[in-house]
Amino acid sequence: MSILVYAENAGGSFKKSAFEVVSYARAIADQSNTTLTALSIGDVENAELKQLAQYGADKILTVSHDKLKNFVNQAYASVIAQVAKSEGASIVILSNSFSGRGLAPRLGVKLNAGVADGVMALPIQNGGKFTVKKTAFSGKAFAMVELTSANKVISLTPNAYKIVDSVKPEQIEAFNATLNEPDFKAMLKEIVQTTDKVPLPEAEIIISGGRGMKGPENWGMLEELAEILGAALACSKPVSDAGWRPHSEHVGQTGIAVSPNLYIAVGISGAIQHLAGVSSSKTIVVINKDPDAPFFKVADYGIVGDAFEVVPKLIAAIKNF
Ligand code: FAD
Repeated sequence: MSILVYAENAGGSFKKSAFEVVSYARAIADQSNTTLTALSIGDVENAELKQLAQYGADKILTVSHDKLKNFVNQAYASVIAQVAKSEGASIVILSNSFSGRGLAPRLGVKLNAGVADGVMALPIQNGGKFTVKKTAFSGKAFAMVELTSANKVISLTPNAYKIVDSVKPEQIEAFNATLNEPDFKAMLKEIVQTTDKVPLPEAEIIISGGRGMKGPENWGMLEELAEILGAALACSKPVSDAGWRPHSEHVGQTGIAVSPNLYIAVGISGAIQHLAGVSSSKTIVVINKDPDAPFFKVADYGIVGDAFEVVPKLIAAIKNF
């Protein structure tokens, strides 16, 4: 048995989640006394590839081709499955990112593997049993799932596992994958918005605003709070629907799913569709003037008060800290 990790990159640079999955897989490889191979698809510089060895990959395989420059679900799944078979990998691990959520079920079929998506912690391996903790019902619950199949596919929730140094010798090899023409029939067009801000799915701290903010002109204080905390900004669906904030900031069931270490919700009621995308955040702080707002039920810390009084005081307190 060996373990294969798919290390996702964006424009040639690995995402933070790629290092998280390598660190996570390293810990499983050490538990199981086995080897870890990391796979990179697309054009990634050698200096960048070497980072995968820093976090514990024994071997780094690369697949590069003009047709694989952009993410193509079917084709990427086929390449990962070919590598898994060639390496004899019985566990394939990837991030539960937008791409990972599309790849995991396809890999399950191709490898005849049990799939656990949205996994939150290291597996419990006991008496031949392999059990993982994963999110369930759009993040409203956790489930302990036993994978009984010989082959397993795991997608790891972003920010659920810390990046850990575990330096291995750098062994980088090209893998000759077969590309199948039908896999390229449907391609997803990717529109990349360039910004100097932390991408929302990878953010460790998120400041999120809801309809309680009254209008786009009041976002300045949330921007200031985000600035001093090094946080990314998010919002509820009605806020982006109203054009107060861009759709790229909309989190929840129909928006982006996030799992930061700290999620501060300001003037958001906490409807189930919103919670579906944010409830796996490690610590949730809610600021709402209504003590009965549903968000308080899932909050670790709550402030009942007017956002227009609380947020400026919070900013002043953090600045004086
Ligand atoms: P509101 O529900 O209007 O809540 C505003 C809150 O602000 C209230 O709790 C109020 O007490 C508080 N407030 C008001 N003034 C202040 C103040 N001065 N200071 C402090 N607090 C104040 N929603 C999402 O967010 N994401 C989704 O992905 C999503 N998907 C959906 C999918 C479907 C199929 C459906 C039907 C709905 C979806 N929704 C989604 C909408 C969701 O049901 C809620 O309507 C929405 O989340 C409410 O947004 P809100 O909390 O900003 O607004």
